[in-house]
Amino acid sequence: MKKLVLLFLPAFCNISWAQNDILKNINENQAKYAQMSEQIWQWAEPGYMEEKTSALLIKELETNGFTIQKGVGEMTTAFVATFGSGYPTIGILAEMDALPGLSQEAIPQRKPKTLNGYGHGCGHNLFGVGSVAAAISTKQWMEKNKIKGTIKLIGTPAEEGAGGGKTYLVKERVFKNIDAVLHWHPGDNNNASPNSSLAYRVTNFTFEGLAAHASASPEKGRSALDAVEAMNYMVNMMREHVTPETRIHYVIKNGGLTSNIVPDYAMVEYTVRNPSAQGMEEVWKRVMKAAEAAAHGTETIMSFEIMAGLYNLLPNETLAKTMQKNLELIGGIKYDAAEIKFAEDIRKTVAASNLAPIDNANKVKPYFVGSPGTASTDVGDVSYVVATAGLSTATWVPGVPAHSWQAVACDGMSIGQKGMINAAKTIALTAKDLFSDTSTIEKAKVELYEKRGGKEFEYKSLAGDRKPPLDYRK
Ligand SMILES: [Zn+2]
Ligand SMILES: [Zn+2]
Repeated sequence: MKKLVLLFLPAFCNISWAQNDILKNINENQAKYAQMSEQIWQWAEPGYMEEKTSALLIKELETNGFTIQKGVGEMTTAFVATFGSGYPTIGILAEMDALPGLSQEAIPQRKPKTLNGYGHGCGHNLFGVGSVAAAISTKQWMEKNKIKGTIKLIGTPAEEGAGGGKTYLVKERVFKNIDAVLHWHPGDNNNASPNSSLAYRVTNFTFEGLAAHASASPEKGRSALDAVEAMNYMVNMMREHVTPETRIHYVIKNGGLTSNIVPDYAMVEYTVRNPSAQGMEEVWKRVMKAAEAAAHGTETIMSFEIMAGLYNLLPNETLAKTMQKNLELIGGIKYDAAEIKFAEDIRKTVAASNLAPIDNANKVKPYFVGSPGTASTDVGDVSYVVATAGLSTATWVPGVPAHSWQAVACDGMSIGQKGMINAAKTIALTAKDLFSDTSTIEKAKVELYEKRGGKEFEYKSLAGDRKPPLDYRK
């Protein structure tokens, strides 16, 4: 108990009684939320298969008086939880999927829980629970103070890889009557600056050739693997002739079965990223030309399937400033002695020098406009249809990268859980500000309208008209 008082005293001093009112539920239920996040971390369910996770979050929201709509957008694990009615409506996003191959114990040395198993290397176990905590806390404050408006918690499946869960929720018009969206993401620092992200598209290119004995009659074969290699070669040369922010990566998902048969089937998955949707589309078209040319030159047949397409994040500075102010109130994360030891040990395993100091976990980054970001998120699509702001908190020890076993370890222990609580509090305080003064929401809407190009803008999914790839992790 003494530890808790010490932990929250510095932030508490700056927080008014009115603000503390909305943090009440989070403060009183920290242990429960930590335990929920640990349970989800143990399950580590893949995208579109987050059944237990989704059920746990729904149960908590239902118990706390939210009305639930399940299976939204033909995705069984997607849901919308609603409390209240009328203007304004504030949405909070909750992710929940884990990553393949990253199974890991919550210790600072590499030790998988199960070989090649899934692990929460992006902290979506914390993301989901932290957002639910923020929504419940906000709801209780609204009820107690008779605040007008609606709070919605949107359970969004399959953020990772080709999942793109939110793009199908956008298509389903789930965000149509939402006035502002708040979200967060685990990270190795605390910041609420209006950072962007890269637009991206994931595409599977399949080549079909002719099988033949690789030694006795190679002249009768046409290798699908040759086509994949030819395509990769062309794209690798193309790298010199794209902008530095462009990212192109691939994995060969099928390269034949045995070397004594000319492979008649091969598949390569490509991800193309660029700071703008238009820039991504231009590079993607050139990758497509390489695929067509490779098929031509190897006398194979090429087909492709777009698996996912995401917009870049359109940061909303009006909302971001409110978020930053509240993050500064909440502050960073103070480690206890055991956490300092954990942090020191895990940093020794990170393959980079000049890591940011451990101390950064306890600091909030100053507000900064203009970071294009290097990763991608399906929150991008949401941010084009509704004014959106997010933050990240130091759930990972400074220097620990996303999608690593080190991140999984942090996400399953107290450091990650402390970051989650800080994020929940920041979101709740921000929701309070928006409900209390709707002029911020209206200003944010004008900003969105102008930034996305006025009345010319029309949302068109970068994944085309495909349905959610519900079996992409099977
Ligand atoms: Zn993530
Ligand atoms: Zn991720």
